[in-house]
Amino acid sequence: MRRTFNFNAGPAALPQPVLEKASKNWLNFDGTGMGIMELSHRSKEYELVHEGAKARLRRLLAISDDYEILFLQGGASLQFSMVPMNLLGEDEVGCYILTGAWSEKALKEAEKIGRTSILSSGKALGYQTIPHIEQPNLPSDAAYVHLTSNNTIYGTQWSSYPSDISVPLIADMSSDILSKPIDVNKFGLIYAGAQKNLGPSGVTVVMIHKQLLEKAPSSLPTMLNYQTHANSQSLYNTPPTLSIYLLYLVLEWVEEIGGVDVMAKHNQQKANILYSVIDESSGFFNGHATVESRSLMNVTFTLPSEEYTKQFLQEAKSRGFVGLSGHRSIGGCRASIYNAVPQDDVVQLAQFMKEFQLQYS
Ligand SMILES: *Cc1c(COP(=O)(O)O)cnc(C)c1O
Repeated sequence: MRRTFNFNAGPAALPQPVLEKASKNWLNFDGTGMGIMELSHRSKEYELVHEGAKARLRRLLAISDDYEILFLQGGASLQFSMVPMNLLGEDEVGCYILTGAWSEKALKEAEKIGRTSILSSGKALGYQTIPHIEQPNLPSDAAYVHLTSNNTIYGTQWSSYPSDISVPLIADMSSDILSKPIDVNKFGLIYAGAQKNLGPSGVTVVMIHKQLLEKAPSSLPTMLNYQTHANSQSLYNTPPTLSIYLLYLVLEWVEEIGGVDVMAKHNQQKANILYSVIDESSGFFNGHATVESRSLMNVTFTLPSEEYTKQFLQEAKSRGFVGLSGHRSIGGCRASIYNAVPQDDVVQLAQFMKEFQLQYS
């Protein structure tokens, strides 16, 4: 069986070796005679997976002991609420940098919890570009600065982060975590839903500086308090064991490939292949993002008209390319080329784009 060319935005492609290993262990994990999702989350066998996933992530991103790694549920979307619930004090302001639809959603949830301020917004310019913010002008009562590292829908990505910020920097890294090295120490908290770069849906990874764990008001519901999950190694209640097992295998795969430096090199090469086709198409393909803000994860582009777009998507589908329509909010096309998308699939797509242009322009 030939696997589909999968350019889905999320849930997205998983590494084939990960799927093969998971299916080999499906009925009998580690000699237990049970599948991983049939084991108790308090069992020795599961504990090795749970703690192993944390240890691998810690190694891959060089996360120091100053940070807790949490496995939560509710997706990145629940983090839009948990961040202000835990970290926005009553007399403080949560500061947001808006670079797309996900940052808007994060802000909207914070507005329900407390006071907020927009430091910068690219909305008027169609979220085509990432702002240059070195030392943002913060209100004196700022609690934190929140940003979205990669804008999955618009196809823009921060290439370097604001430094010299006097309050914790918080990042939604759902769609580019583990795609390149990051300096975790720059951040107070990082969160990411797993279903783009880390594994299947169902688990959300949070890395939080231990100092921030103290801040939550004691009135917070237990499950919504980071401290609860930190105190219980993310085993306060039943975790999504199958998702965490697949995360564990994805992390193993990244380690075997050579880590995030190698991953970053591959991702740069894959993105270059598609952006070159766009740049050399004399405007037939039009990239949504400005060149300096281009995402290496989500390549967004339009064709000369809606009819061309429809035709392109239809022919792409018949050739086995899946997931290429842009998000329903902006239309056009989007190729999501996360870690697990093989370079050869990207080469095939580039070839198809060139052929399509030849045929129709
Ligand atoms: C997909 C995505 C989300 C939403 O994630 P859920 O896990 O579905 O809540 C949030 N932020 C970004 C940047 C995303 O790409």
